[in-house]
Amino acid sequence: MRDKIEQVLFSEAQIADRIREMGAQIEADYKDKGGLLLIGVLRGVAVFFGDMMRAIDLPLDIDFMSISSYGSSTRSSGVVRILKDLDENITGRHVVILEDIIDTGLTLSYLVRLLQERRPASLEICTLLDKPSRRLIEVPVKYTGFTIPDQFVVGYGLDYDQKFRNLPFVGVLKPEVYAGK
Ligand code: 5GP
Repeated sequence: MRDKIEQVLFSEAQIADRIREMGAQIEADYKDKGGLLLIGVLRGVAVFFGDMMRAIDLPLDIDFMSISSYGSSTRSSGVVRILKDLDENITGRHVVILEDIIDTGLTLSYLVRLLQERRPASLEICTLLDKPSRRLIEVPVKYTGFTIPDQFVVGYGLDYDQKFRNLPFVGVLKPEVYAGK
């Protein structure tokens, strides 16, 4: 897998350091709020979620949603179908949505609207990666791991054609990987 990577953007150690910082920030923001619900959107967030939840030393619950966005694999249309809804009732709860990457913002903007209708006490977004130059719709991101330029990245949960999620770092694929498809 690693021989298909052109460049490592963020190493395991860099990601771990940043997650420790974000965890401390979330801890400080929620310590007096009497609980927190972390929501993950499958599948890309799986790795980040596991590390992030362990970086927050507070009583918390976790829950997951699975959605599919119509459109090609590398571009999101923003039209979202819920494949698996949350198990938890979020009404009156302090919720943080964890995301792997925000690109156009279309998916997340749809999700935020959907979840706001359920009247949580608060709803914030925490993303590992953000590509602000690609944004088509504004989404209020409270916690951002790293801001990246308009590059397609893989690893640390992020896939290309469902592969490369298990790379422990975030990187860019060699062009020949796409050409070979
Ligand atoms: P958005 O609705 O913000 O355009 O789409 C976000 C979703 O698109 C992410 O959750 C992810 O699944 C996918 N995505 C966007 N940019 C990248 C990228 O650089 N690499 C990978 N692997 N997925 C991406």
